[in-house]
Amino acid sequence: MSATTGFQHSLVALGSEYITPTSATPVSAPDWIAWNDSLASELGWPDAWSHTEEALAGLAGNTPFDGSQPAASVYAGHQFGSYNPQLGDGRALLLGEWHTPAGHVLDIQLKGAGPTPYSRGGDGRSPVGPVVREYLVSEAMHALGVPTTRALAAVATGDPVYRQTREPGAILTRVADSHLRIGTIQFFAMTRRGAGLEDIVNYATERHYGTALAAARDQEPDVTPARVLLEEVGKALAGLVAHWQSIGFIHGVLNTDNMLLCGQTVDYGPCAFMDAFAAGRVFSSIDSGGRYAFGNQPGIVHWNLGVLAQCLLPLIDDDEEAAVAYAQASVDRFPERFSSAYAAHLAAKFGLAGMREDDKQLIEQFFQQLEQDSLDFTLAFRWLAEMANGTLEQTPLSQIFSPSDGLSDWCEQWQLRRKGASGDTTTRMLAVNPVVIPRNHLVARAIAAAEQGDYGVLKTLNSRWQDPFAWSDNDLQFAAAPEPEEAVHRTFCGT
Ligand code: AMP
Ligand code: MG
Repeated sequence: MSATTGFQHSLVALGSEYITPTSATPVSAPDWIAWNDSLASELGWPDAWSHTEEALAGLAGNTPFDGSQPAASVYAGHQFGSYNPQLGDGRALLLGEWHTPAGHVLDIQLKGAGPTPYSRGGDGRSPVGPVVREYLVSEAMHALGVPTTRALAAVATGDPVYRQTREPGAILTRVADSHLRIGTIQFFAMTRRGAGLEDIVNYATERHYGTALAAARDQEPDVTPARVLLEEVGKALAGLVAHWQSIGFIHGVLNTDNMLLCGQTVDYGPCAFMDAFAAGRVFSSIDSGGRYAFGNQPGIVHWNLGVLAQCLLPLIDDDEEAAVAYAQASVDRFPERFSSAYAAHLAAKFGLAGMREDDKQLIEQFFQQLEQDSLDFTLAFRWLAEMANGTLEQTPLSQIFSPSDGLSDWCEQWQLRRKGASGDTTTRMLAVNPVVIPRNHLVARAIAAAEQGDYGVLKTLNSRWQDPFAWSDNDLQFAAAPEPEEAVHRTFCGT
């Protein structure tokens, strides 16, 4: 490996109160499930080395990688609204921060590599199902352009894990800008009543928002990192949730410990993409109250940002009133930030150069029509894109999507609105309205096969989802909404 790439350990260096050295627990019979060549090359992992027994042993936690220092982080978090004062990496181990040839610094974690001091009685392992789901969905999200943690590899352990039933175990290698969460800040602010808070806030701000911090300091030399962190996390999360809403992604567990400060989507537990549109759609088996329903996501992320703001108060200003005023103003900017990011996505999806006040009603009617007629979210948008571009005749879309009468009527209004729209906005519709998304019933098929030791479905789907905005051969099976008997309505954390 070249001198510029390799592991460093800045979080470990920050102090033992943040992260605890922990070894992976070896497994009996490591085997490859999936390997992400393109991510490996971004990381600067040599090709020749990537597929070796040595790499496999490292990814299974049997032989530590050169230069890694496995460690588990502590954090806390509001889970379904109630504060849990101590959580942590219960089934994840940070191998270190990997410095890439392009100069990026990325956390590399093994997920499912055995118990840690934060396992709270859990086994620190993962069944193959959740590993396959995370691999597929996180990589599909990346291809859709959504900020997300990535999947570098998935390996089978050869050991069973016991949940409701005996299941084959697996380990995912996850890559993120970092795994610092709102919950990380909460642990030091709330559980530890401020001890260790300033160092982790400074660290997170410099690591993720160094440029914004420098720019803020140019304007105002005394600006505190906490102010910059709150503002930048607010912007990043507003953009993130707007992106989710624009593609019908339902995260499923928007607890504060599942919100990364870097603004990437994390924790692909009971997540799912909607097929037929419903604002109240919920998949997670544990979300009985619908707290994290599709339409609630922006409000929940706003609430989570409020929790971060509360944690940062003592570092925002020595004067409590001034601190509260700053934090409140920053948190209050979230709805507007979300709305403008979401409006930009919608404008692009509907082929509009910009959003006018009266467009809101037209768009609202579109969603009402989808919900009323149980129309597929993804295909309805693609249908608009193909109508506008005149490509319907050339693609198989009409075989799998027919508009309802109501949608056809709506379409006339929409075409009137688009009269005179530029060719660019029209072409762009094809680049923002995907043909394929990681539909739940297909993910479920990949999981069922993987549980039988067959990783072929995973491979096929993963490869198809890398190019989501264009049609490909034999695409009906990937693009079609599920038949009623195929549809998956419930998802599980599967931990
Ligand atoms: P999650 O639902 O994935 O956000 O997990 C919530 C918390 O439970 C995190 O702190 C995890 O580390 C922990 N956890 C989940 N599954 C396990 C497991 N199998 N063993 C140990 N800890 C776990
Ligand atoms: Mg989590």
